[in-house]
Amino acid sequence: MRTPLVVANWKMNKTTSEAVDYLSELKEKENLFSGVEVVICPSFVVLEKAKSLLEESVIQLGAQNIYQEEQGAFTGEVSAAMIAPYCSYVILGHSERRKYFHETYLDVEQKIILALNHGIKPIICVGEDLEERNNNQTAEVVRTQLTQSLESLSGEQIKNIVIAYEPIWAIGTGLADQPEETNLVCHEIRQLLTELFNKETSEEVRILYGGSITQDNISSFIQMPEIDGALIGGTSLNVEAFIKIIEIVKEHYKETHG
Ligand code: PEP
Repeated sequence: MRTPLVVANWKMNKTTSEAVDYLSELKEKENLFSGVEVVICPSFVVLEKAKSLLEESVIQLGAQNIYQEEQGAFTGEVSAAMIAPYCSYVILGHSERRKYFHETYLDVEQKIILALNHGIKPIICVGEDLEERNNNQTAEVVRTQLTQSLESLSGEQIKNIVIAYEPIWAIGTGLADQPEETNLVCHEIRQLLTELFNKETSEEVRILYGGSITQDNISSFIQMPEIDGALIGGTSLNVEAFIKIIEIVKEHYKETHG
C-alpha cells in the first residue's frame, strides 16, 4: 500500500521566526499523524533552522524549487547539492514557476535528474489551465507535460517521484476541482506511467491533488482511490487547519486504498 502524503507549499510566506512558531506547534501534534508522511516546503532561508528544530521529528522538509544546473554562474539560484542536507523532497514545475519564471518541462526534466542524483524526491506538478479544461484537453495536456519530464527516467527512478495534479484554475482561487474529475485524471496519469514504465511501478507512485484544498473538502478527495494525498498552498499557512487536514487524511485514506 502507498503511504499518504501531505505537503505544505508555503510559497513566499513566513519568516524564520514565524516558521519556528508554526513548526513547534506542528511538532507537538506529530503523534496524531502516524502513517501519514508530512512535508513542509518553506523558503530556502528557513531550511537550516527548520532542520535543526525538526531533528528528532518525523516531519520532513522540502524545497520549492532548484536550478537545473549542478553549479556555476547563475546569480540568485539554488542548487540540488545546497538543499540536500535539509530536504527529502523538492517541488518542481509548479505552475507559478512556469507562469512567472517561464520554466518549461524540459527544465523540469533536468531538475528531476539533479534532485534524484542528490537523493531528493521530486514532487512534479502538472495541470491544465481553464481554457484547456473547457476544451476537454486535460488528459492530453497532462500527458504531454509528464511525457516531456519523465521520458528519460528509469523505472527505479520513477519510484522515487511524486506527481501532483494541480489544475491551474484551482490554485489559490477557492475553486477546487470535483473529486471524481480529479480521480479520473489521476487514473489517466497512472495509466500513462504503466505505458511508460510498467504496472508495478505505476502502482507505487503517489499522485497528489493540489488546488484550493481546505479542511472542509479534503475528505472527499482523499476517499478517491487514485489520490494519495494533497499539495496545499494557502490553507497550509494556518497550522491548526493544516493539522486538521492531516488528521482527516489519516482517518479516511485507508478506507479506499486497501
Ligand atoms: C499550490 O500552490 O500548489 C496550491 C495548491 O495552492 P492552494 O492550495 O492555495 O490552491
